[in-house]
Amino acid sequence: MAQLKDDCFAFGGDLMPLDEALARLGESLKVVAGVETVALREAQGRILAEDIASDRNVPPHDNSAVDGFAVYFDDLAAGTEVRLAVAGRIAAGHPLDGPAERGRAFRIFTGAPMPSGPDTIFMEEDCTVEQTGDGEVVVLPPGLKQGSNRRFAGEDVRAGDVILRAGHRLRPQEIGLAASVGRDHLQVYTRLRAAVFSTGDEVRDPNQGAAEGCIFDANRYAVMALLEGLGCAVTDLGILPDDADAITKALAEAAPRHDLLVTSGGVSAGEEDHVKGAVEGLGQMHFWRLAIKPGRPIALGQVGDVAFLGLPGNPVAAMVTFMVIGRPLVLLLSGAADLSAHRFPVEVGFDYKKKKGRREWARVKLETTDDGRLVAMKHHSSGAGILTSMVEADGLVELDEDTVTLEKGAMAPFLPFNEITGR
Ligand code: AMP
Ligand code: MG
Repeated sequence: MAQLKDDCFAFGGDLMPLDEALARLGESLKVVAGVETVALREAQGRILAEDIASDRNVPPHDNSAVDGFAVYFDDLAAGTEVRLAVAGRIAAGHPLDGPAERGRAFRIFTGAPMPSGPDTIFMEEDCTVEQTGDGEVVVLPPGLKQGSNRRFAGEDVRAGDVILRAGHRLRPQEIGLAASVGRDHLQVYTRLRAAVFSTGDEVRDPNQGAAEGCIFDANRYAVMALLEGLGCAVTDLGILPDDADAITKALAEAAPRHDLLVTSGGVSAGEEDHVKGAVEGLGQMHFWRLAIKPGRPIALGQVGDVAFLGLPGNPVAAMVTFMVIGRPLVLLLSGAADLSAHRFPVEVGFDYKKKKGRREWARVKLETTDDGRLVAMKHHSSGAGILTSMVEADGLVELDEDTVTLEKGAMAPFLPFNEITGR
């Protein structure tokens, strides 16, 4: 991992704007994942580590786009129908044996290679076939353009084209495209090895059962799922007590086997917040108070050479800060070229007031009105601990730093959860 320099991260102001935090990430960090070769079947969601150039045309040969009859355009007559003897049959995967004679029609099927010579294809349903003593004759209507229904070699991919670049995340269509040029293995970045801890004396795993004054660990499970959605290989390292030595020991042990350590809780400035000190003792800590809501305290640093991300304890804050800072951090370390998340303009169905200088996200559900408009409805709760509000939402409406009021009926950027929890 590149050094996260203190001077680079020192921030004069009280609260750091999100864009500044993201720019600093981009300047200071680089990919840490290794490279491995995987079969196409294993490639879904992985990040490509090579540029892929095609060594062939796709499709490899001119071919028919329909089931029908291939003819020489020059054998047709303007304005009148033409009758041609059917001289051959060309199915997909079975090129015509030998030359295609002039003055004949060739029955051809979708995807079958064009014979050499004929240049135009009639659709089967536009033709009639008559049986004669000498075999089949096809009656071709007038008016078809030269070259109709013919697909050209290389119209999808030309030999030599770079079809995919390193850093591209492999969706089903990329996997299909790689297969279409004959690749069965791809070089991808290794999965980022992420270790996840929760912190807090009050936090218990659901499998431990309830105890007086305690809560169950929501964050570790949500954060592990978020990381897995981004393609990480996740190690569950359980719950740490509010104890500096225990936290130090656990982080030091985990670091050599991982590329990223993620904790939640314990990063505020309170007496029981020991994560900051532990990381400082093991490496460097850059504690950010971001100008965002929900979220605010987030810790970024390194334990030895290994990246460290300290999320806030409140479950909604932990998830939202992960989405806006953790996601680009993970993608960057994983080798992804595109760290952005698309915002889509939607009509909002609520009024909103906020402080200037802070970026805020309202949890919203998209609803379709009776007259067919898609409207973002705000969840009634905006508490940072109200996880049900995330479940009842489809995503976040983003209110930038300059916005102070938003009125019902206005358009605002909508960040769908499925855009930020993996693509
Ligand atoms: P902290 O940042 O550690 O002070 O935590 C802030 C709030 O989040 C407190 O109410 C904690 O009990 C709660 N919290 C911390 N960690 C978790 C967790 N893993 N799951 C659910 N709530 C948590
Ligand atoms: Mg705590």
